Amino acid sequence: MFPLRKNDPKRTAQSKLSKYNLYKEALSKDFFCCCGYCGTHHVYYGSGKCFHIDHFAPKSKFKHLENEYSNLVYSCPTCNIAKSNDWCGNNESESIRNGIGYIEPCDIQYSEAFYRDSSGKIRYKEGNSAAKYMFDKLKFGLRRHEILWLADYFYELVPRISRKLQETPESNPLHGELKSLLLDVIEQMDKYRQLQREL
Ligand SMILES: [Zn+2]
Repeated sequence: MFPLRKNDPKRTAQSKLSKYNLYKEALSKDFFCCCGYCGTHHVYYGSGKCFHIDHFAPKSKFKHLENEYSNLVYSCPTCNIAKSNDWCGNNESESIRNGIGYIEPCDIQYSEAFYRDSSGKIRYKEGNSAAKYMFDKLKFGLRRHEILWLADYFYELVPRISRKLQETPESNPLHGELKSLLLDVIEQMDKYRQLQREL
């Protein structure tokens, strides 16, 4: 079991700006360059330029929150488009109504509601109806989430195993095992990077 996102985003204090787009750089930092909802790094969408800014409480319903930093979420286009203007009530501070709705991505509850299984699939905690609602609405079951996570996972394993291999003398039986493990991991990495390019 792994966390849905590698780092939990946290909004830092910002001075008031006139247009929400002007917060993009600050959002990118506060969200560790990753989508607040699914955790995908913006590099998979060709950098931050192609990433979106989501209004947690939709600006179409709550115009006065359009330029409020506390209402903005650094988001991949997939999550932002899927969420669109959906909101379960008419109250800006009630993001969950009758058990359905949206959990705030910077809230500790978000990280508790979702996780990834060992194959990188996004899962939600059983019995959490709001998490289930978000899972369905944001299409967390899409294979792209699994593929991008696995591509990252194997990519990060390669230098770690390489380092161990370099530290292990050839006379040590572990050397051979590490070498074959490294080749396996490189093969897996290539496979998921190829799949990622085909998305
Ligand atoms: Zn996303």
